Amino acid sequence: MIYPKIYLKPKKEESVLRLHPWIFSGAVARIDGQPEEGAVVEVFAADGRLLGVGHYQIGSIAVRLLAFDEVTIDHAFWLDRLRSAYNLRQMLGLDHAPENDTYRLVYGEGDRLPGLVIDMYADTAVMQAHSVGMHRARHDIATALRELLGDRLQAIYYKSDGTLPFKAALDHTDEYLLGRYSGGEHLATERGLRFGIDWLKGQKTGFFVDQRENRRLLEQYAGGRTVLNMFCYTGGFSVYAMRGGARAVHSVDSSSKAVYLTERNVALNFPNDDRHRAFAEDAFDYLRRADNNYDLIILDPPAFAKHRDVLRNALQGYRKLNAAAFEKIRPGGILFTFSCSQVVSRNDFRLAVFTAAAQRRRHVRILHQLTQPADHPVSIYHPEGEYLKGLVLEVE
Ligand code: SAH
Repeated sequence: MIYPKIYLKPKKEESVLRLHPWIFSGAVARIDGQPEEGAVVEVFAADGRLLGVGHYQIGSIAVRLLAFDEVTIDHAFWLDRLRSAYNLRQMLGLDHAPENDTYRLVYGEGDRLPGLVIDMYADTAVMQAHSVGMHRARHDIATALRELLGDRLQAIYYKSDGTLPFKAALDHTDEYLLGRYSGGEHLATERGLRFGIDWLKGQKTGFFVDQRENRRLLEQYAGGRTVLNMFCYTGGFSVYAMRGGARAVHSVDSSSKAVYLTERNVALNFPNDDRHRAFAEDAFDYLRRADNNYDLIILDPPAFAKHRDVLRNALQGYRKLNAAAFEKIRPGGILFTFSCSQVVSRNDFRLAVFTAAAQRRRHVRILHQLTQPADHPVSIYHPEGEYLKGLVLEVE
């Protein structure tokens, strides 16, 4: 296969030789041929050595490499990459197990498929493209996925309105690439608990799959405690806390849709159980007026920083939020606190939480340091793939 060729400036191949999959536009010396945005291109070092094959894009990342050798990006390629991603999830026991059918099948660079995310909800795949190349390849990927999963796959919903680069001005709408569910809502199982997933209207792909193992840990701490789940969205942590035997669970989200989803998911698993209440309110306002009755608090806010330039404000945000929790939590309480901002490092986050604890002069011990689960694998060459950070703290 002949692909357009991109030549790098001298010495700019070093990160690629270390298997990092991104070529920044500043590293490009020249482009032979006129690749369309999203086209497959071959990348060469200044001395003419082939470095790999990837998707071309206009922007700061010029190429996302799919392979570090000479390959043709065809049906066999997609099938091979998807199969390897699927094998990992099967090894992890996440797929079609009686107690679990909700997991991330493809996590971008971590599965050597930069720009692609696929979440599985029972027999439905929700596919998200973060690059123009993956957008252009969506039908090929859907065909390969169908071949790989056979009858286990009934629908593929393509949802990329919010994730594709705006500047690429791609004329497309979110749509089913296979099958269809009227209404778009569907039940899926996570660790034996049932959740309604709305990929049509929900945030991201409809559910936050990445907190699965952390929710399980929370369940172990919930027995007999009065739990406050801040930023509850679909109520994942709340439902696990209920199963863990919490005395009471209060869920808070500023979105009334999220509060509705939480109440519905709690009722699905624990009908007629009056331990749960949900509040549509801003997190900071709620914490300000809350009683000091909680002895387990979860803080899982949205990414406070999406870019490096707002990092300082983001760290302030984490500090204030955690300080409010340290002020309210009962002696002997447990705090699960998270950051999902990729640009906030583990150390930065820990420092923000440390500062918050010191401001409130609480004695705090770190019990667990949490991250994303194994179905969100991080390539050792691409540390940018690690984004979820969490601390479980005991507050004296
Ligand atoms: N913990 C959830 C995911 C949280 S996503 C889970 O396990 O699935 C972040 C949530 O924070 C969203 O539902 C969003 O509506 C909510 N949110 C954003 N800003 C908020 C604010 N200021 N106060 C309360 N909730 C907020």
